[in-house]
Amino acid sequence: MVDVRSVHKSFGSLPVLKGVDLHVGRGEVTVVIGPSGSGKSTLLRTINHLEKVDAGRITVDGSLIGYRRSGDKLHELPEREVLKQRTRIGFVFQNFNLFPHLTVLENLVEAPVSALKRPRRAAERAARELLERVGLADKAGTYPRQLSGGQQQRVAIARALALEPRLLLFDEPTSALDPELVGEVLDVIKDLARQGTTMIVVTHEIGFAREVADTVVFMDDGRVVEQGAPADVLDRPRHDRTRAFLSKVL
Ligand code: ATP
Ligand code: MG
Repeated sequence: MVDVRSVHKSFGSLPVLKGVDLHVGRGEVTVVIGPSGSGKSTLLRTINHLEKVDAGRITVDGSLIGYRRSGDKLHELPEREVLKQRTRIGFVFQNFNLFPHLTVLENLVEAPVSALKRPRRAAERAARELLERVGLADKAGTYPRQLSGGQQQRVAIARALALEPRLLLFDEPTSALDPELVGEVLDVIKDLARQGTTMIVVTHEIGFAREVADTVVFMDDGRVVEQGAPADVLDRPRHDRTRAFLSKVL
């Protein structure tokens, strides 16, 4: 489903991804952990072509992200095509990024209507079903500022789902939340996992990783240091750097 091959990315003279390989099967949940600055967010952003890779390639569902091939050359896709690819890859950020001037329902309806050209009535019906799914059916007419952080993040997840993504990316979805609100957001993500949604989740919630991940990936200094089943990576790490990191977060 997701195939990241030898991806390199620098910002100026700073190498941030130094040859990253990652494979995520359909319906699988991959949790990415690692210290601050190790390149986790940058990796997620390259999968959505929010960052251009310097070398390597990324395919999602068989489509090359951000480029098209002609002969053995790669040409960057025009912005319109990039946006089209991006609509099918949901991205949930740490800080929710809801549209503050739109109601919860309008937040969910906007993109399906404008990007997917869905009729508004159908988009609203789908949006109400999604709000039901994240436990916020009664908040359709509310504005984001009137919601708790946990509720806002659940709206953000529902908004990502409204585009019927084939892949969902989460970048520390609970790290901006008060501790008592973390559980309700993780529960929504767990539900999605049970329903077979393909996801890559960057998080420091090790308990969540243990429970939900098919694969845990430990990144350090722009590289995947180790990856495998949660029980292996989290309980029997093979690398000192993984052990050192886990001893700090566990
Ligand atoms: P954190 O856990 O703190 O979120 P991270 O693993 O997500 O860290 P990244 O955000 O991917 O790390 O950043 C990796 C490195 O790249 C850092 O040194 C960061 O300062 C640098 N970096 C990220 N984005 C940019 C940018 N747009 N321009 C310049 N440097 C950047
Ligand atoms: Mg980050």
